[in-house]
Amino acid sequence: MNSLESATQSAGARLIKRLAIMRRISQRSDWIERIIFSPASEEAAYKLKGWMDASGMETFNDPLTNVYGQRSFSKEGTEAPRIHLGSHYDTVVNAGAFDGILGVLIGIAVVEAIVESKHPFNHNLSVLAFCDEEGVRFNTTFLGSAYLTGLFKEEWLHKEDEYGKTLGEWLVDRAESIDMILNAYKTPYIRPQDVFLESHIEQGPILEKSNRALGVFINIAAQLRSEIILTGCAGHAGTIPASLRNDPLPVASEMVLAVNQMCKSDELIRATVGHLEVIPNASNVIPGTVKFSIDMRYPDLKGLKRVHDKLSQEIKSIANRSALKFEYKLVHEADDAQLDQRLTDILAESCEVMQGSSPRMFSGAGHDSMKVAQVCPASMLAVRCKDGLSHHPDEYASNADCILAFKAMLRAVLIIDKNF
Ligand SMILES: [Zn+2]
Repeated sequence: MNSLESATQSAGARLIKRLAIMRRISQRSDWIERIIFSPASEEAAYKLKGWMDASGMETFNDPLTNVYGQRSFSKEGTEAPRIHLGSHYDTVVNAGAFDGILGVLIGIAVVEAIVESKHPFNHNLSVLAFCDEEGVRFNTTFLGSAYLTGLFKEEWLHKEDEYGKTLGEWLVDRAESIDMILNAYKTPYIRPQDVFLESHIEQGPILEKSNRALGVFINIAAQLRSEIILTGCAGHAGTIPASLRNDPLPVASEMVLAVNQMCKSDELIRATVGHLEVIPNASNVIPGTVKFSIDMRYPDLKGLKRVHDKLSQEIKSIANRSALKFEYKLVHEADDAQLDQRLTDILAESCEVMQGSSPRMFSGAGHDSMKVAQVCPASMLAVRCKDGLSHHPDEYASNADCILAFKAMLRAVLIIDKNF
């Protein structure tokens, strides 16, 4: 066995042990939960920094609690172009054990395999563990990657958590001054001359259905979220005949079916009603108001706007056939992120070597790569997860698939080092 093979084997074994360790770092005893600034998040950051230190990386913590480390191989010094590997280490509430953290641990394993084998390497290699991708505490996503790419918005400092403490107040507890925090993100660690590779569980069923452990994301979907409010007239369930009712629920139901029909009309469209409120929601009262959400995703924003316009026209015509008061509000719009084709081809080729073929998919879920892709070329390796389940305690990727993902990423990094 040559030294790269044996170093890969031992780094792979540590990767699996560390996944088990991280699974136990939670602020709840009954489920996995690591939310930015919580003691569990601090403990996870401390562990990750320790593993980065042990592999000979120079490590950094910023006031936001991002953890990152660099092993400098370049003859041009520490500021030479970086190959960044990583993902996020925070979780949602009642989370799974792989979302985000797998990508961070694969990054550390890649550095370890290269360092331990003394394999020739020319770029500076960096591992990023973003502190907040899920946005649970402040209801804003990608805080960690926004900070390290210089895309942090000062207005976010006023965002409050559920206890009324603002992000700015949390940060001044951890830094010398707010100026220090603002100056730090104005000289970003992730720069246009760098590249970023993120490994992440697929969070969907396509790889499992294709019987493949690995695949690549070619882009991250655009997203539109709308809120619909239908107002009629509440009344006694026993006394008012249908002809004299103004009940918003049957009309809302027709709209929900239209959303589902739109979703079924094209494999690329995701359209979901995930939130529905019936007011007053009592068994013997005709509803007075119904509110619901529509979440729509499509590979690109232009295409999404086209299908969204079609759906909203249909919903408006359903509303017009009723006597209800109708409100339609667009509450969120996120552009798609196009991942770098050259990097994606290299990742796909690594997957092909490992498993014969490499499914290419779009990601319907948001990822740190969306932010990073605004600054430098970025690409994503997708890892099969059981039943496509994620943001769920039963989220599962097998040890064999996690190790295969690490090997594919290592292979891709060695090729990128030679070709970029
Ligand atoms: Zn994630």
